[in-house]
Amino acid sequence: MENFLSKPVIRLPGVGEKRAALYERLGIRCVRDLLFHLPRAYENRGDIVSLAGTQEPERRGTRQAVILTVSTEPQRARLKNRMTLLKFRAFDDSGVCDICFFNQDYLYNSFPIGSTFRFFGKVERLGGGYTMTGPSYESWADESALPPLYPVYPLTEGLSNKVITAHIDQILNHATALLEDPLPEDIRQRQGLCTLAHALRMVHQPPDFASLHTAKMRLAFDEFFRFALGMGTLGHTARVAGAPVCRVSDPVMGEFLSALPYALTGAQARAVSDIRADMASPMAMNRILVGDVGCGKTVCAAAAMFVAIRSGRQAALMAPTGILAAQHAADLIPLFEGLGIRGALLVGSTPAAQKRKIYAALASEDPTRRLDFVIGTQALLSEGVSFAAPGLVIADEQHRFGVNQRATLSEKNGHAHLLVMSATPIPRSLALVMYGDLDVSRINEMPPGRQRVDTYVVDESYRARLDAFIRKNVAAGGQVYVVCPAVEQAEEGDTDREEGLIPLEADFSAGPTARPAAEPLPPMKAAVQYAQELSERLPELSVAFVHGKLKGVEKDRIMQSFAAGDIQVLVSTTVIEVGVNVPNACLMIVENAERFGLSQLHQLRGRVGRGSRKSYCILVRAGGGETARARLEVMRTTYDGYQIAEQDLTQRGPGDFLAPGSGGDIRQSGSFRLRLAEGWPDGALMDQAFTEARSLLDRDPTLADHPLLLHAVQADFSSAGDILN
Ligand code: ADP
Ligand code: MG
Repeated sequence: MENFLSKPVIRLPGVGEKRAALYERLGIRCVRDLLFHLPRAYENRGDIVSLAGTQEPERRGTRQAVILTVSTEPQRARLKNRMTLLKFRAFDDSGVCDICFFNQDYLYNSFPIGSTFRFFGKVERLGGGYTMTGPSYESWADESALPPLYPVYPLTEGLSNKVITAHIDQILNHATALLEDPLPEDIRQRQGLCTLAHALRMVHQPPDFASLHTAKMRLAFDEFFRFALGMGTLGHTARVAGAPVCRVSDPVMGEFLSALPYALTGAQARAVSDIRADMASPMAMNRILVGDVGCGKTVCAAAAMFVAIRSGRQAALMAPTGILAAQHAADLIPLFEGLGIRGALLVGSTPAAQKRKIYAALASEDPTRRLDFVIGTQALLSEGVSFAAPGLVIADEQHRFGVNQRATLSEKNGHAHLLVMSATPIPRSLALVMYGDLDVSRINEMPPGRQRVDTYVVDESYRARLDAFIRKNVAAGGQVYVVCPAVEQAEEGDTDREEGLIPLEADFSAGPTARPAAEPLPPMKAAVQYAQELSERLPELSVAFVHGKLKGVEKDRIMQSFAAGDIQVLVSTTVIEVGVNVPNACLMIVENAERFGLSQLHQLRGRVGRGSRKSYCILVRAGGGETARARLEVMRTTYDGYQIAEQDLTQRGPGDFLAPGSGGDIRQSGSFRLRLAEGWPDGALMDQAFTEARSLLDRDPTLADHPLLLHAVQADFSSAGDILN
């Protein structure tokens, strides 16, 4: 018997070839796909206002719900361009409204005098009365039957929300009744979660806010749970045999250490000795080096490279961006040159001829012509680079690399030893899932003489003083970073709000107050405009801006001239977040600080205080009220990245660690979409899901006894684009 869930949508009533093709465009082929086509948002039709109320300042121009009773027969009119107009009047206690529909003559008999409807749309004030054009409408005869939230689906041209809603309505009961729940029943009950069938019914047709919240909790739990399972079953690699044994004596190691301008800290020395022990074994190293920004991970990586190279092997160091790769190269190539070790930088902007030379030198069988190491981005290992004698692969800022990629990295390179480095302080429970298979070396000590970056939280009223402070720091020879949340002003338009929409990702736990209009976020400072305004206000300074949408080469050029001191104030979006090292920078200003996670702010703050200059971090708050202020205050008193990460998790939920560009881009760990999980308001759900996943894997490590679950996890992770390919 063919399961209804796998029935092609084309066989549903009301779906012909044309619509089936449109559904295909949305990735929907069968009933099951349709069932899992979740609304992207909801129209908030439950927030009912009077006609007069629609004109209040914070509501005007947005789509709203009104309850009106029809008071006239509809009139039909023929307009130019073969258009027709259907028009009638309807009223409530506060006024009378003209309701107009264009080219919808068939509605002629739909609005009998005396009947009441819930209309949803923009209400305009024209002359003495009100007008609505083409509103949505539902009969208000039976009030209790009208839910407050109306689903809005991701659409494609030619397929309307009304059509999709009707099709989902058609299949929902039957499809959910047949759906098997992959989540083990004991876990579901222990966690007090609803069934998957219930969750889907509630997400598509939420009777109220609370039901939607319950449904989303179940779906968010599933995402966390399957993420953890996927990492546990698919991503994790045990140390495998076949790695080249790389061993150097203490006196040889001493050559490297004495080439450094400083002595290693105790924590660095311990990390290096962990690494040496790993590499001396034929079991491939699989280690992560974690430590706060600026703790000095690079030199440990360099020590590992030295060990590999002095053992007759080659090393590759990969950074997440070209800028960082160039920076590592600028530090390490001269250091190694002094030791008679040769390496090269290989990035996107490297000229083709140069690239070919590097490829040849890396693959050369002749040790005297061979390059000992190469530094580049992750594209490095995909572009046909092959090593004559691979020994070590290092991935800096590991969260940018997918877990799935780790195994590939080592394998593709002759079971090379693998070292990953991360400065992203992520909460413990997440770290266990992410790095569960890796041996950890933690650098918990800063190099001596490292100063504390004084941190202040200010608001708009400090603007003039802030300008003066920028001037003062630059006059003293320092450099300044300004970080803005947006690239261009245009990005701030909140059309969803105007459309009366609440995104699926919103927090529905608080009931109707989830309405985003209740507290619109303050306007975002945009890097482009900001840079312009700043250079107008401070014409004597050289100001530049850089953001993620710039071409790599252009970005590198600006970063390099900032590093060289030619640019005094660098305005940017968060592209500078990861790893950039300009020791002369002494002032970090973050605009709209209320929009950032604390961990992200901590990362940003780590960009200054790297040299001898007294350094400051100023968090400019544009709004967000007392909660935001209290949250930001933590930055003033806390300097420990891990403590900050835990705070973030409890206060804001896991989103900051999961969102792209946050510095903790976990979604790239196999492009697994943590859609509801990302916006989940507290960290407890994640902890519980991870704990359940770990204990399930203890009982059933390969999920052999949970085929449904295994299948779901594989499906989630199969869309994972391997970024190395
Ligand atoms: P991160 O761990 O963030 O990658 P880096 O490796 O870039 O940090 O190191 C930050 C700075 O600290 C660099 O300028 C580096 O030269 C310096 N540094 C590293 N180790 C020491 C040390 N033991 N003593 C003094 N300075 C050090
Ligand atoms: Mg680093």
